[in-house]
Amino acid sequence: MKSNVIHVCYSPRYYAHTHTNSMEKLAAVAEVLAQKSYIELVEPELIDVQLLKKLHDPHYVDAFVQGEKPLASAQGFKQWNEQLRDAVLSVQGGQLKAAELAFQYGISANIAQGFHHAVYECGLAYCTFNGLALVAQHFPHKKIFILDCDQHGGNGTAEFTLRLHNLFNYSIFAIPFGCAYHERSLTHHIDKQEGSFEQYVKAIQQGFNNAIAWGADLIIYQAGMDCHQHDRFGSAWFTTELLKQRDHLVFSLAKKITFL
Ligand SMILES: [Zn+2]
Repeated sequence: MKSNVIHVCYSPRYYAHTHTNSMEKLAAVAEVLAQKSYIELVEPELIDVQLLKKLHDPHYVDAFVQGEKPLASAQGFKQWNEQLRDAVLSVQGGQLKAAELAFQYGISANIAQGFHHAVYECGLAYCTFNGLALVAQHFPHKKIFILDCDQHGGNGTAEFTLRLHNLFNYSIFAIPFGCAYHERSLTHHIDKQEGSFEQYVKAIQQGFNNAIAWGADLIIYQAGMDCHQHDRFGSAWFTTELLKQRDHLVFSLAKKITFL
């Protein structure tokens, strides 16, 4: 079904005040998108905790939901509180809602953070639960391909490809972060100093070739922004204009292979 708007999942509950701005920037993005005529914001429910227990160690899920340290803070947010819990559960709910909308309309988005470092046993590096692997867990008959363009390798998602046969991780990064190469986890390192946008473009095109060859039903684009040259982890050559070009390329290639 075609739609003349892009459905974007977001809830004011996504906002959580932490010692980083990790979950505050989501509200800033939503504020800008709400002004656009071609965007329709959709408010998701909090995820059913039982669904998270099918993906992660149930002991870890319970610890996070109940605020039991140290596991509840394994992802690095020092202060656990109910606002943080509900923000995380809402963003995860948004992942499933956005996937449903993408299957329905061909495209959707979730204004999200914090997925790709989370492993089965616990969270890591501001990632509480792996919302990328979650989509594969929830739609077992669909092939879910992750195009991860965060500056850090998606180690958690790479691990989950060993548990979920309908999950493929393709990670383009400068900082490996333990992101391992497996049968359905391909890693593409591009150097922070010596790399170039030409290499990056080739890596994206290769990613799409892999998605097509595998027969992906859904591509989830994790549009990491920490590769920007002004980020403390960023690549020296990655300007704002090039980030725009990167995103334009990804959506153009996706549109070519979308039949809706
Ligand atoms: Zn990162």
